[in-house]
Amino acid sequence: MEAITTIEDIRDKVASLKKGGKTVAFVPTMGALHEGHFSLFRLAKQHADEVVASIYVNPEQFGPDEDFDEYPRQLEADLKVCAEEGIAAVFAPSDKIMYPSKQYLHIEVDELNMHMDGGSRPGFFEGILLIVNKLFNIIEPDFAVFGQKDIQQFRILQQMVSEFNHNIELVMGSIKRANDGLALSSRNAYLDEEQRKRAPGLYRCLQYVQKQIGNGVTDVHLLLDHQRSELQAKGFKIDYLKLFSFDTMVPVNEVKNSSKYILAGAVYLGDTRLIDNLIVERP
Ligand code: AMP
Repeated sequence: MEAITTIEDIRDKVASLKKGGKTVAFVPTMGALHEGHFSLFRLAKQHADEVVASIYVNPEQFGPDEDFDEYPRQLEADLKVCAEEGIAAVFAPSDKIMYPSKQYLHIEVDELNMHMDGGSRPGFFEGILLIVNKLFNIIEPDFAVFGQKDIQQFRILQQMVSEFNHNIELVMGSIKRANDGLALSSRNAYLDEEQRKRAPGLYRCLQYVQKQIGNGVTDVHLLLDHQRSELQAKGFKIDYLKLFSFDTMVPVNEVKNSSKYILAGAVYLGDTRLIDNLIVERP
């Protein structure tokens, strides 16, 4: 399988896939594909006749001190698995194709990016909105599939689709985990053996808090404080560990009935940033 690198060629390819009224689901990725991505491909296949993926490490969503240069790139291996997964086309453009000249226009996010990853990574979601908006306009899929792993991304993209009237249905795929519970991530490759062993501690902590909420705890302030200390004692550096409202992405301390929340954490092991989350719903 060969990557399609120009906008003209991917448009032609998608047009040919859509012939006869066939539907297309799109799965954008940054490559270094793993079982998490594959699960999205399979979910995409359940929704549409054909699946198109993209592999592009988007410079606009990396801060100056982040890992853009080190981010794992393995296009040949990724294309091979895409072929095995029955992906109809892979769009893997260069920076010159996606950003041919100075980008004068950007999309700003209000409030939904004030906390969680948006709070810790200034410009991150603006970069994501820019690239996903471009990709949506290029591919024009019927469905687009994103992972719960990046739940704030999903929530903000929901808003983009609604406010900018993209005629695309968003689908969320659940988080694929290693046997010990660690959420799969291309960045897990940065972990050394000892860090990899400790890494599932974040998920265990989220599970514990979720269980306490299930048992009837409504005031999570002390519970989360305590869990942050536990994680710190285990050598994690905490970026955040909080309960957020799903709708507004704002941290909350009290769980109410008939509401949807995200219990989310971002931690560092050495220089590696790990994120994970669980959806918490009180009937
Ligand atoms: P990335 O290549 O990291 O930009 O991720 C591409 C897509 O895969 C995003 O929609 C992610 O949310 C999703 N994804 C990443 N890790 C996982 C995982 N462990 N399980 C399910 N989806 C994932």
